[in-house]
Amino acid sequence: MAGKVVGVLALQGDYERHVRALEAAGAQAVEVRTAAELAATDGLVLPGGESTTMLKLLHRESLFAPLRAYGETKPIFGTCAGAILLATHVTSPEQESLGIMDIDVQRNAYGRQLDSRVVTLPSTLGDLEAVFIRAPIIRAAGPSVHVLATYNGDPVLAEQGRHLVATFHPELTADPRVHAYFLSKL
Ligand code: GLN
Repeated sequence: MAGKVVGVLALQGDYERHVRALEAAGAQAVEVRTAAELAATDGLVLPGGESTTMLKLLHRESLFAPLRAYGETKPIFGTCAGAILLATHVTSPEQESLGIMDIDVQRNAYGRQLDSRVVTLPSTLGDLEAVFIRAPIIRAAGPSVHVLATYNGDPVLAEQGRHLVATFHPELTADPRVHAYFLSKL
């Protein structure tokens, strides 16, 4: 990891918290808003926020195709809205996605009463405090997806080769382990 630079897509959402979380985990982190900035990184975080808005901004900044190509060689970590962008299929409603992780994702799947919650979850990284905010549910995952944590039987932290998704927000806790795990993929 030494000398590696991790980008955080900074078009919308809680990207500043990811920059801080990556730095706390020992990385050099930079905000990414252009294809040139993307090309200067060794890994990328797609933050939480509003995936529909991010999708529009990705097209406006001509970043959609570069991001898809980036995922063919470099690791991407998507949290919440970022996980939705990485999926192969998105429902509720259907929307375009990058198709980088072989997961089917249903947006805002916990319903309005349960907009946000904090739970303690066992994971392959140990017990994690997981903050869910208008979270999606991963309804299906392909055979090459490895699940690292579940909640109510659904995957909430999963990897596929170099890529990682969380439907919760590890950047909102002081625990650096999930970001550190992503850094181990660089
Ligand atoms: N509800 C958002 C979406 O569908 C995701 C929420 C989040 O990133 N915290 O894009």
